[in-house]
Amino acid sequence: MGLLIRSGEIVTAADRYIADLYVDEGKVLAIGANLEKRGAKDEVIEASGKFVFPGLVDPHVHMALGFMGTVSADDFEAGTASGVSGGTTTIVDFCIPPRGTPLLNGLEEWKARAKRSVADYTCHMAITGWNDHTAEEMRRVVEDHGITSFKVFMAYKGAIMVDDGELYQVMKQAAKLGAVVTVHAENGDAIALLQQELIAKGDTGPEYHPVSRPSSVEGEATNRALMMARLHGATAYIVHMTCREAVEALERAKLSGQHCYGETCPQYLLLDDSVFAKPDFEGAAYVMSPPIRPAHQGHHDALWRGLASGMLDSIGTDHCPFTIEQKRMGKDDFTKIPNGAAGIEDRLQLLYTYGVCEGRFDLQRMIALASTNPARIFGLYPRKGTIAIGSDADLVVYDPAVSGARSAKTHHSKSDRNIFEGFKVRGAPTHVVVNGRVQYANGALKVERGAGRFLTRAVTRARSEATPRPAGAALP
Ligand SMILES: [Zn+2]
Repeated sequence: MGLLIRSGEIVTAADRYIADLYVDEGKVLAIGANLEKRGAKDEVIEASGKFVFPGLVDPHVHMALGFMGTVSADDFEAGTASGVSGGTTTIVDFCIPPRGTPLLNGLEEWKARAKRSVADYTCHMAITGWNDHTAEEMRRVVEDHGITSFKVFMAYKGAIMVDDGELYQVMKQAAKLGAVVTVHAENGDAIALLQQELIAKGDTGPEYHPVSRPSSVEGEATNRALMMARLHGATAYIVHMTCREAVEALERAKLSGQHCYGETCPQYLLLDDSVFAKPDFEGAAYVMSPPIRPAHQGHHDALWRGLASGMLDSIGTDHCPFTIEQKRMGKDDFTKIPNGAAGIEDRLQLLYTYGVCEGRFDLQRMIALASTNPARIFGLYPRKGTIAIGSDADLVVYDPAVSGARSAKTHHSKSDRNIFEGFKVRGAPTHVVVNGRVQYANGALKVERGAGRFLTRAVTRARSEATPRPAGAALP
């Protein structure tokens, strides 16, 4: 059964134009004027006055993540369904094998959980330690399994953090493979000491979480990660950037000709650290790392400017919700509050309202940041991330004329808090098409557990043609 979407304004990273769109068997088959139904049973969506976006790609989510002694509240089914209702039709999750676990064993376990997804999915492979087998395991992950990006954590000391020697090894091997290294950039040693000092003083509430991870520890680690990548000619992608110091480090690297990327998330653009002072432990709902930043230090401006200027490349969510009950694990010690919050379903409406409608970037740039660039950087383009003949039929029909507000009462995530509670939004998806099938229509989800497919990805390094620079060589 085909689907005809009539008279919508199609928006891609490059274009805006009004046209009809015909899809069948999960693919976009035709784009043009006055398209007809091809079968009697074809469904028709009238999209006049509405936008038609490519399905959003979220480059940063954690479904069913075992973390800090518990498991995040959305499994792959609930989390991807939540995403579909908000216009996200592809996720890049993280496979995080514990230190010492072979990567492929970790991957098998991750795939068993991920197969409940309602939308297409892939993952970044985390490297949490280094031994004699890791380089070869990384090669197999890329060449045999189609996972072409890695993840390192420079924070969470004593758990999943890598030290500088391990970071060196990962960058070196990833450069050889042409894979991207995504980096959680915070100085884990400094944070561990700051946390100890605060707890020793009796400063145990959630309001001390941001005090233990100031922007200087993020700026330092961001610069270090980028320099380690430069040392080996690796491609670094800094995840969830929150602050001026980090944006400045990325800017220096980019302006010197280094091939690297930066991501931020809506919470770092729209919230400030006053959230941690909410009474009755409600501040815990906002505990995530890096933390939400103070309002008056220029962080928010630096991020918005980075998005508009091209210094930042993508917007993910770091979707990783925990219920307030789970957060209570840290009621006497903020270092034990599970880190994370929901966001996959809020991203599109927030970016449209506070990015596009407030004139910070245009519609095409929004699509670039939330769909096209993540697809390109991580080897999913043009199957994902655009509307073109032959692309997957992942589409969002967005009505700009309606308005509403984000709330935990109406969101589809299993999280009992929404960190954007009460945020006014303009426009909403009326229909979300996943693999050619309408899975969300006018407020109702019609998803199917397990309908999502594991996506194998290509190595897409823009400079793969170039001869690798010898370690330590200066950039031009
Ligand atoms: Zn994350």
